[in-house]
Amino acid sequence: MNDYGYKIIFLCLRSFECICIKTAFKPTNTLNQTFTQLKTKIDKNDKCNVVYEIPCECGQIYIGHTQNRLRDRLKTHESNIRCKNPKTALATHCITNNHLPTFTHTKILEIEKNRRKREFLESASIYAKRKSAVNARRDTQFLHNSYKHVINTYTFKRSQT
Ligand SMILES: [Zn+2]
Repeated sequence: MNDYGYKIIFLCLRSFECICIKTAFKPTNTLNQTFTQLKTKIDKNDKCNVVYEIPCECGQIYIGHTQNRLRDRLKTHESNIRCKNPKTALATHCITNNHLPTFTHTKILEIEKNRRKREFLESASIYAKRKSAVNARRDTQFLHNSYKHVINTYTFKRSQT
């Protein structure tokens, strides 16, 4: 599945999840949106509240999320691997196989302030990319089967075209 495909499926999944989670009415046009164009572009590594994807040199990927700056999270990953501290599935994979991640090619998959929604997006991303992800199986165990069905259906249709 290409990046464009992921964008479409996650727009759908976010809509479903928002219906389930949203408790307060939000106006469609906010002051924030009006003034967004005036802001200077933030370096991707300075962004917070992200779901990110780190590629490994072997072609596999690791998907994680953080509320802190991406730059700080990547430093922690780097430190865990350097100190041979298997705190995450990425560190475990790299230590076990003597691989190195390509941190400079880290991608932001989603930006979401709400922790619960961010965790959902992380799980859905891991499930969608599970064939190449080094993440632990437990990372997707709380993803409802209906979402897995949507992802599987979409992935199957994409592979047919
Ligand atoms: Zn690897």
